[in-house]
Amino acid sequence: MSIVTKINRDDIINGKAGKRPGKPKGGVFHNDYGAMTPQQYVAWLIARRKEGRLGLGFAPYYINSSAILRADNTGNKAWHTANNEGNAWYLGYEVTQSFYGIISDKEFILNEDMTLRQMAEDFHFYGLKPNKETVRLHSEFSATSCPHRSWDLHGKSTNALKDYLITKVTRYMSLGKTVEEMLKKEGVSAPTVTVPNKVTPQPDGKTVKVGKQATHWETGSAIPKFVIGQVYDVLASKPVNNPKSKKAYLIGKGKVATGWLLEQDVDGFKTAGGGNTNKATPTTKPSVTGTTTESQSIAGVRMFLNRWFYGGLTIDNSAGPATRKALVKALQMELNSQFKAGLIVDGLWGVKTKNACVTVRKGANGNLTRLIQAALICKGYDVKGFDGKFGDGLDKAVKNFQGTKGLKVDGLVGQGTSEALFK
Ligand SMILES: [Zn+2]
Repeated sequence: MSIVTKINRDDIINGKAGKRPGKPKGGVFHNDYGAMTPQQYVAWLIARRKEGRLGLGFAPYYINSSAILRADNTGNKAWHTANNEGNAWYLGYEVTQSFYGIISDKEFILNEDMTLRQMAEDFHFYGLKPNKETVRLHSEFSATSCPHRSWDLHGKSTNALKDYLITKVTRYMSLGKTVEEMLKKEGVSAPTVTVPNKVTPQPDGKTVKVGKQATHWETGSAIPKFVIGQVYDVLASKPVNNPKSKKAYLIGKGKVATGWLLEQDVDGFKTAGGGNTNKATPTTKPSVTGTTTESQSIAGVRMFLNRWFYGGLTIDNSAGPATRKALVKALQMELNSQFKAGLIVDGLWGVKTKNACVTVRKGANGNLTRLIQAALICKGYDVKGFDGKFGDGLDKAVKNFQGTKGLKVDGLVGQGTSEALFK
């Protein structure tokens, strides 16, 4: 069973932004633009408070896949949206380690999911219903690209991202009242993180000194958290489109990144190490060329597997072994979750998985139907919509498939048909 560490440290912010005038209206979803874990945020926030710099911003929550930091009581306001209404009336949730190149998309989605479980817990607590008025994005309150990475991953529009977040919060709320209850009901141990949470320092150990000012690599606005004159390690670099800078550098200390710095703001870089950052680890943006929705296509299936079952697939139209394995994994997770099948989630089709398969038929609705649709889509069948509803279109496709495979043509997806579909 998965374990989540809850770090309740209401004393860190300690009501610094004042008390909320009433019950919160909802939650604001953030990506932190950072590389720190919730544990690392503890010291960072305490330092920010001691320096009298909390006004630069903080959220009540900092969350990744294994830890939830609550830095203040949820009955207090927080300075997280650069907007009075947002700060006073909405809870704020930072999904941590959202910088590209720090962790993989797969791991980032695990971080998002834990954040959304916490949001679901708070919505239960405050009697809120997840909808477009209650589930909000930072970018709805002020000019920012936050939540940048979730935006790129889940549809690249306010509506698409909000639909995605609302669907997930709704699902988590149906599973339990607390994060622990939800995880227990999900019935699978949290998938183990495969990408270590660290950045690889440049092999030649380059350092940079922050110059007169530091500006955000995208927006050009000043970033106060860099200390001017301070020397940092260069952890990564990436090309940027900016009139004065060809590159941005991810800088920090050791393996803990502070943030990105534009080339134009670097002072003393050349004297520090010659300025060759060509060896820097390139940051990886997810490949979302093509489909960014769960449409009826192989790319749509792969997007679905990534979002709901941690498929870790690139988004393309390949129905090869990686997709097949991810499909079996998803089926195993779903059978564990719905029927307590107790299967090892390994993506390998075997007799235990076959025996655990239940019969799914016309009229069904949910993830098992969705997985049947997915398997058929990957085999080239038109299922008339990738929506989890077992209607006439899917019934027809199943019967066609059964006919081709020499199975009994009854439209019932039981153990035999499941084997033909997933093996
Ligand atoms: Zn934000």
